[in-house]
Amino acid sequence: MKILCIGRNYAEHAKELKNDIPESPVVFMKPQTALLKDNKPFYLPSFSKEMHYETELVFRIGKNGKSVQAKYALSYIDAFTVGIDFTARDLQSVCKQKGLPWEIAKSFDNSAAIGTWLSINESKDIQDINFSLLLNGIPVQKGNSKDMLFSLDKIIAYISVYFTLQQGDIIFTGTPVGVSSVKIGDVLEAFIEEKSLLKFEIK
Ligand code: ZN
Repeated sequence: MKILCIGRNYAEHAKELKNDIPESPVVFMKPQTALLKDNKPFYLPSFSKEMHYETELVFRIGKNGKSVQAKYALSYIDAFTVGIDFTARDLQSVCKQKGLPWEIAKSFDNSAAIGTWLSINESKDIQDINFSLLLNGIPVQKGNSKDMLFSLDKIIAYISVYFTLQQGDIIFTGTPVGVSSVKIGDVLEAFIEEKSLLKFEIK
């Protein structure tokens, strides 16, 4: 499986990092070794002094597809949850300055934390989902999928031109405003609507 990620997909977040609003989806990938599941702790890696959380809606692909049309795209999703796209912001800043790829800042081991999957049938409209993050019990990020610059159907149509979607692939869809850094001892808890789906510690 592969993990496809969309960057700069919420206008207020793009602004907080002083990025332009993109004209087409910003796509990057993480390998399978990036997955962090079952509320396991995240160990701060030694290579970064500025590890940011990015809370994102995450969708799972239920069937294979290539060059999927937007009008059929949502039928390719079978489950969704909330996740954290961990980002070594200090390394990413250097990559951005030099015009280099982001992998060392975004795709390292355990950089893709995901919560418990919800069946797609459990949500009436997946393009209107509230999600949020508590950091040590304090609300720090909240978003709604309707505020995405590129909606999920458009994301699937776009990325499947370049990458064949396979059953079990997952898509991180970008973070709203409010990203910041974590430290040892912090507890992150992420929600879809009122449901806590992910809770783990930074070690
Ligand atoms: Zn992200």
